[in-house]
Amino acid sequence: MPELPEVETVRRGLEVVTLGQPIVGGEVLLARSIALPDRPQTFIESLRDRAFTQWQRRGKYLLATLSDDSCLVIHLRMSGQLLWLTTPQPPCPHTRVRWFLATGAELRFVDQRTFGRCWWIPAHCRPEQAIPTLATLAPEPLSEAFTVRFLAERLVHHRRALKTALLDQTVVAGMGNIYADESLFLSGLHPALPTHTLTTEQIARLHQVIRRVLKEGIAAGGTTIRTFVTPQGVNGHYGGQAWVYGRQGKACRVCGTTIERLRLAGRSSHYCPRCQPLSSAMGR
Ligand SMILES: [Zn+2]
Repeated sequence: MPELPEVETVRRGLEVVTLGQPIVGGEVLLARSIALPDRPQTFIESLRDRAFTQWQRRGKYLLATLSDDSCLVIHLRMSGQLLWLTTPQPPCPHTRVRWFLATGAELRFVDQRTFGRCWWIPAHCRPEQAIPTLATLAPEPLSEAFTVRFLAERLVHHRRALKTALLDQTVVAGMGNIYADESLFLSGLHPALPTHTLTTEQIARLHQVIRRVLKEGIAAGGTTIRTFVTPQGVNGHYGGQAWVYGRQGKACRVCGTTIERLRLAGRSSHYCPRCQPLSSAMGR
């Protein structure tokens, strides 16, 4: 699943290839990939003759501003990918939406699991009004608004497992399973730690690590943009050098202890029982 660094990499790629090019047409191959407007045909017609002027990102949402100040929003969810094709190619089996540009290029939304969504939002409406979850997102984790204090407030007021809290987009916008597991390892915090037991020092360390891990992810993803807007990273590979993610049964890179996997709120968590003890950190 693409997380903040992968979506940011896609955003940067889209800025390089799509800006200023009018959309001359399109095609919706799966109606449920379009969340707004209701009719797929209206979605396509609303975008016709508009050009992309800017791509922004909020959490895992991509937001394209168009030349009439309307907005195209895309959420890749589990398996969505955006492909940039400069020569005509027939749609592949998982193609859901196609945008044809005046230059003959095509922007294509491919989504095997079909959870990804596109919204077209008219100029008089703000994206946060049309998409309620955008309005409740935490501040961007790499912005100054994402402070230790903000993170602490979001963590200590709910009693739940730390890993579950980190995946909550109102706590850390753009966080997903991979970067959450890696952040917890580098912070020495067990994924099942109850959030209300965390000390200020632990939260400050976690805050610092989250920002570092996301920055490193962006730096790693940003190097592979070519014809395909999505790099390999969009499939969830963390540079091939994960500390714990996907490494259950293997030796911890720090202490050699076997990495374990635990299910919390339906999601897998990977952790080192020695580097991330549950008992010693509790009750402090
Ligand atoms: Zn270890």
